[in-house]
Amino acid sequence: MKLMEWNGIKLMKVLVFIMAIAMMMVLVGCGSNEGTDDSSDTDSYLAITEPTFAPFDTTDEDGNCIGFDMDLMDAIGEDQGFTVEYKALEFDALIPALETGQADMITAGMNAMDPARQAKVDFSQTYYDSGLVVLVNDDNETINGIEDLTADMKVASQIGTTGADEVLELYEEGSIEEAVILNGFNTAVLQLQNGDIDAIIIDLPVANDFIKKQPGKLKTVGEVLNAESYGFAVQKGDEELLDKINTGLNNVIDNGTYDELYTKWFEN
Ligand code: GLN
Repeated sequence: MKLMEWNGIKLMKVLVFIMAIAMMMVLVGCGSNEGTDDSSDTDSYLAITEPTFAPFDTTDEDGNCIGFDMDLMDAIGEDQGFTVEYKALEFDALIPALETGQADMITAGMNAMDPARQAKVDFSQTYYDSGLVVLVNDDNETINGIEDLTADMKVASQIGTTGADEVLELYEEGSIEEAVILNGFNTAVLQLQNGDIDAIIIDLPVANDFIKKQPGKLKTVGEVLNAESYGFAVQKGDEELLDKINTGLNNVIDNGTYDELYTKWFEN
């Protein structure tokens, strides 16, 4: 009887200890001050991106992630009282990393209209309308649109993107010789300029940004292939962060900050 009582007390102590450890781990795992009411503390979130997608996502000389997405999210954070740290990953690793809790959000010019993605993550309201286009060398006279791609051509796009879906579809229907799926848009451009590939399928604003910065090298041809809209992604069910992002996004649109950032990244 005595032994059993002692065991009971011991068990309780062990349970309390385990619960305390579990609570500490939850707080550390958030990487933020969520759940505390101390107004002097600012919540901090980890955002992931793929930084070969200027002007949305690129890097400065020191390797920091910069771009329209980062400025917009920072403005949203300022409005909503949180700060954001950005980390670079390959595009196809973004959703798995978010799903497994390795980040709080994706800020990566990501098409939010994709049902397969919507099944895995929750998207904010969209903040930029976009679409895919065919990009070729400026002196290319044979490809004037997607209909001019032929069964002897190699066409590239970036892994995990809607552009890659398009290129793989062209390959599967036998319209091109090879679907070249690469990690970054910058690598695709190098291969195009080397003559290793014939065309790239990429988002129009990213193609236009390259052409503006390095005129005379590449050109877009034909019609825009689809309609997509970019949104920020959070973990499925993270309503608290999603609300902050949506409220902040509406506020920075209303107070003119969105327009200022648009001018900074798209009209300069
Ligand atoms: N719009 C494309 C997509 O969402 C490309 C995004 C990107 O490369 N950052 O798949």
